[in-house]
This record gives sequence, C-alpha cells and structure tokens, in this order.
Amino acid sequence: MDEINKKIRRIGVLTSGGDAPGMNAAVRAVTRMAISNGIRVMGILKGYRGLIDGEIVEYDARAVSNILTLGGTVLYSDRCDEFKTEKGMKKACRTCQKYEIDGIVAIGGDGTFRGATDLSRRGIPTIGIPGTIDNDITATEYSIGFDTAMNTVVAMVDRLRDTSESHARCSVVEVMGRDAGHIALQGGIAVGATGIAIKEMPFDEDECINRIIHARMNRKRNFIIIVSEGMGTNYAENFTAKISRQIPDMETRFARLAHVQRGGSPTLRDRLVATVMGNRAVELLIEGKKNLVVCMQNSKVVDLDIEYALNLDKRYKNKMTDEQFAALSESDQKSMTKFIKQKKAEIAEFYQISKRMSI
Ligand code: ADP
Repeated sequence: MDEINKKIRRIGVLTSGGDAPGMNAAVRAVTRMAISNGIRVMGILKGYRGLIDGEIVEYDARAVSNILTLGGTVLYSDRCDEFKTEKGMKKACRTCQKYEIDGIVAIGGDGTFRGATDLSRRGIPTIGIPGTIDNDITATEYSIGFDTAMNTVVAMVDRLRDTSESHARCSVVEVMGRDAGHIALQGGIAVGATGIAIKEMPFDEDECINRIIHARMNRKRNFIIIVSEGMGTNYAENFTAKISRQIPDMETRFARLAHVQRGGSPTLRDRLVATVMGNRAVELLIEGKKNLVVCMQNSKVVDLDIEYALNLDKRYKNKMTDEQFAALSESDQKSMTKFIKQKKAEIAEFYQISKRMSI
C-alpha cells in the first residue's frame, strides 16, 4: 500500500523536554480526536525514554478524563540522550513495531521536534505540537504553557508589589526564558515594571537606575525590575547589588520565581490552543502527513515542515551560517527573512511601550 494512503490505526502520544501547563489538555485532545476517528491511542510515558523502554499504556476516552485542568504532564517527561543515538533510535522503532504504532504526536520544544524528524525519517510519521512556557519556538507565535506561566508571573509579582509599596522597596525579579525574553517582556508590561532586561534588546543599567531615581523624586514608592533568565547567571543578583549601591537609601531585593512558573492549572488560552492543536495534529496524521509542526501564525493554526521550522529558529537565533542560509531555497530564504523582521519589530515595539509606561 502507498505509504501516504496507509490507514492510521494506532497512534502514540508523548510529552518531552520541559513540561508546560496545557500539555495534558493537548494529550486529551489528541486522544479524543483519534478515538472519534476510530484510531486507538497509546500513551508513551516519559517522552522518548518510554519509546525506547517500551513504557506504553493504552488510553481510552475515559483515561484522559479530568486532566484538562491539570498542570504538568500525566505522561511524564524526561530528557533522553540515548534517543539521539543509532542504537536508541532502533529500539524506539522496534517499540513502534511491537505496539503497531502508525504515527506519533510529540508535544514539546525544539529538541522534541528534532527527535520527531528522526522518527519521521525512519518511517514513523510524527507531528509536533509546541509546548514550552518560554514561547521560544520561533516558527510559532504561541506555544502551550506561555499564558499560564505569564499569569503566574503576574500573580506573584503583584504580591511583591503590595509589600514593596508598603516598604518603598525595589524588587528585582528573575523570570524564566533562557533562549527568549517573551515572559519577561510581556509579563513585565503586565506588572508595570520600571525596567525589563531581555537579551533581545540592549539594556542600559544606568539609564534604568536613573529612571528609578527620577520617579522616586516624583513620589513613586515601589519599583519592579523584571530580568529574563537569558541575561545570564547571576545577572539579576548583580544588578540588584548595583541598584543598592547607587541608591543606598532604598531597599532593593532580589527574587527568582524559578519553577513555580512551570506549574499550575492551565489558563483558558492554554486549554483552548492545546485542544485545537491536538485536534489538528491528529487530522494531519489521518491526512497521511508527517514531519510537521502545528504552529500559530497570524493568530491561525497552521502546519509547517519541521525542518523549515528548525531552520527558521536557527536563523533567528543566529545559529546558522550565511553559507547554510544560502543553501536554502530562495522562497524559504525570503519567507524566513520577512518573518524574522516582523518578529523582531514586534519585540521592539513591546519594549518601547514598556519604557513609555515606566515613568
Ligand atoms: P525541548 O523539547 O523542550 O527543547 P530538549 O531539548 O531536552 O527539550 O529535547 C527533548 C528530548 O528530545 C531530548 O531529551 C531527546 O530525547 C530528544 N532530542 C533532542 N535533540 C535531539 C536530536 N538532535 N535528535 C534526536 N532527538 C533529540
């Protein structure tokens, strides 16, 4: 039978890499969409590790009851270096044969998608769904978990602001986002931060401190500075110390929100996006497609070739040489350049807005 037209009878679903609220909503959506189409669903535990070790449980419609509201991932997640090896990949393929898995939906980040490409190449059609709180997958405007994480940031920093106002303090808060400052930037705007430090934009420490001094003279009592994790190890602590030195009559404290940002019940947006993307991923497998990642572009759910998405990410993060870029098709080069320009412009605009608000 032509591989493209081969009927999908059983699919596997896994979550891999860093967990994100809303992954369960995606697992539920994949499961129910598949079952609605007469397809059996195998839950693969602990990401690619479970594929290697054969940790598989069959999911029926009830198996995913009540997980819509849960943070974390009921399938568990793991990092699995063995999967990157030839031996590990062979084991994973054998597990797929044993359980008669005709296709896989892999929910995670860039690393997860690289694994998905390897599986697709080995004849196991795989579709990716972006799940990471950092929203650092370039090809998609949105990844599952981002909204919940930002709402956590807002809830936590609002509390810090209450006490900072009482004691006329400055709070420097480090938020997650090693590769991208979206949580810091959008969360920072939402909490009314006086300064936002992200690696995508130049951050002038002295100008930020001057802004605090000026606003203090203008009767402002509390200050929130949001620093993205991507600024580097101890950056936020060091900046806290610098503010303390330069404004000695104001107490400045450092807080790292860390993993609280990863947990919690997913917000409406994350549940909704996860459900829509989960439906689409199964639809793509039914259509005989493979090696695609479901993305959000211009507020619409679209699908992109994983390789294209990974190249776009590399280009955006300056991890691609000019020679590698030149080797891509002309239309890919054009669309990537346009997309990256637009993405950078959006970040710059948010940044300018945040500055205007912090007087
Ligand atoms: P994320 O998916 O959040 O980016 P990781 O980078 O840790 O998280 O990737 C998750 C898993 O995907 C890894 O533990 C590994 O099993 C698999 N993976 C990552 N990179 C590759 C790769 N280059 N080839 C095959 N599998 C990979």
